[in-house]
Amino acid sequence: MTKNPGYNDLLAEGEDAHEQRLASYRGGCFCGAVEVEVTGKPVFAGYCRCADCQAWSAAPINAFSLWKSDSVRITNGEAELGTFNKTEHSYRKFCKRCGGHVMTEHPRMRLIDVYANLLKGYQHQPTLHANYASKMVSVRDGLPKYADLPAELGGSGEILPD
Ligand SMILES: [Zn+2]
Ligand SMILES: [Zn+2]
Repeated sequence: MTKNPGYNDLLAEGEDAHEQRLASYRGGCFCGAVEVEVTGKPVFAGYCRCADCQAWSAAPINAFSLWKSDSVRITNGEAELGTFNKTEHSYRKFCKRCGGHVMTEHPRMRLIDVYANLLKGYQHQPTLHANYASKMVSVRDGLPKYADLPAELGGSGEILPD
């Protein structure tokens, strides 16, 4: 049984973060019409295994990086950015021209998931799997597998085996 990690173990931001200059990373949609820029470090980074991310991305795993909203800027093509929200928790943003996915706003957490795969030069450093109860494939990477979400993000905090 994996030990339930503490809140600080899950934070993507390390203790040395204040000593580093704020880095910026840019990414965009499939056709390039929409461009997004993030600055600093994500609050959380990991993998979402929820059924909605699976259906939306047409993939078994969504590599998420969650940023405070003031760290995320649309630098080009804002008029091309469409929004669809199936639930009140997730406003999924995509390019109206190419259908490429860009990010998901989570108003309840006040964080924005900018898809880690899109950000050039950004090194994904995941600390958890979320919503593992609805996983399609198992991943034995030693990271904690939350049935839904850590308690700090409003979930049960329950940990599942790999
Ligand atoms: Zn596009
Ligand atoms: Zn998800």
